[in-house]
Amino acid sequence: QVNNKLNIATVGYGGMGTYHVHGLIPAEADYLQVVGTYDIDQSRKDVAEETGTYVYPAFDAILDDPKVDAVLIATPNDSHKELAIRAMKSGKHVICEKPVAMNTEEFDEMIAVAEETGRVLMVHQNRRWDPDFLQVKDIFTKRQAVGDVFQIESRVHGANGIPGDWRHLKAHGGGMVLDWGIHLFDQLLWLVDSPIKSVYSDLSYILGDEVDDGFMAYITFENGIRAHVEVGTSNFISLPRWYIKGNQGTAIIEDWEMNGRIVKATGNDVENKPSPIRAGVGLTKTMAPPVDGVTETLPLPESKPADVSFYRNFYDVVTLGAEPIVKNEEVRQVMQLIDSILA
Ligand code: NAD
Repeated sequence: QVNNKLNIATVGYGGMGTYHVHGLIPAEADYLQVVGTYDIDQSRKDVAEETGTYVYPAFDAILDDPKVDAVLIATPNDSHKELAIRAMKSGKHVICEKPVAMNTEEFDEMIAVAEETGRVLMVHQNRRWDPDFLQVKDIFTKRQAVGDVFQIESRVHGANGIPGDWRHLKAHGGGMVLDWGIHLFDQLLWLVDSPIKSVYSDLSYILGDEVDDGFMAYITFENGIRAHVEVGTSNFISLPRWYIKGNQGTAIIEDWEMNGRIVKATGNDVENKPSPIRAGVGLTKTMAPPVDGVTETLPLPESKPADVSFYRNFYDVVTLGAEPIVKNEEVRQVMQLIDSILA
C-alpha cells in the first residue's frame, strides 16, 4: 500500500479488463490505483501501452512485484482458477470476474487456497449494484409496493447472438448460462432468502454452437416464491427486464433505464364487478379490466444507490476485515445451481 491506496494489477486487458482499468478503478481513486496490467495477446499489450498503462512482461512479474496488493482477473472463464490460486499463493488478494470458475469443484479449490493463505478472494458480482435490481429489491422488501411477492420474472434479451470468440467454446466456459445466467441467478438468490426447492431448465442452441445461446429456468423456493429466469440472444423483440407479481399488485420494469410502472389494488371500498368484455370471438369476465377505483397505476419507487460500492467494500475487507458484500458461500450456491443446470 502507498498513501493508503491499494495497488491493483489487472490480468486480461480485453473488454472488461479495460473497463476496470479506465472506468471502475479510477472512479475509486481515493483509495485504489492501477499499477499495471498483463495480457497474453501482444496486440492488447500494445493498446494498454498506448493508453499509458504499465504492461508487465509476464503474469509472474505481477506476482513478484511487492507493491501489488491485489490482482484483478478479467480473462476467459477457464483461466480464473489457476490465475487466482497463483496470485493468492504469492500473497496477493484477488478480485475475480464472474463466473468465478467453471464449476463448484474449481471454486472449492480456490476457496481452500484463500483460507490457507488468508488472502481475500472476492467475486465481481457487480449486478447486485444495478439500479433496476435495487428497485426490485425495494419492491420485494417493502410490502406496500405490491404486497407479498410470489413470483419474479427476470429476463435479458438481445438479438446479436453470442459475441466474441471464446464465449462460443465450451472449453473456455462459454455459453449464456455462465455469462448472463450467473448474474441473474446471483441477483435472485441474494433477493430471496430461502432454499431452492426445485429447478427446471431448458437451454437453447438456436445458433448451432456447442454452448447454450440462451436458456429459461423455473425455480421454486421453499418459501413458495417462484422465479422465471430467461436469457435470449435471438430475441428481436425484448420482453421486459422484470415482471413482479405480488398479492396486491404487479410491477413491471421494462429496461435498464427503469421505464415501468406498478398497478396495485387501491384498497378502496369499491365492489369489483366487471362486465363481460368481448375477447377475440369469445366473451370473458375473468379477463375484463377491473372497474374504476379498484386499481391505481403508480410510478416505480425511486432507485437509491447502494451505500458502499463493490470496490469500497473490497478495500474495507482487505484493510479493515469488514464483511464482504459478495460472500463466497453465496457465490458457491449460485455455482451449485449452475452445475445442476449445465449437468
Ligand atoms: P475479452 O475476450 O474481451 O478479454 C479477455 C482478455 O484476456 C483478452 O484480451 C485475452 O487476450 C486475455 N487473456 C486470455 N487468457 C489470458 C491469460 N491466461 N493471461 C492473461 N490474459 C489472458 O473478454 P471479456 O469480455 O473482457 O471477459 C473477461 C472476463 O470478464 C470473463 O470472465 C467475463 O465473464 C467477465 N465479464 C464480466 C462482466 C461484468 O459485468 N461483471 C462483463 C463482461 C465480462
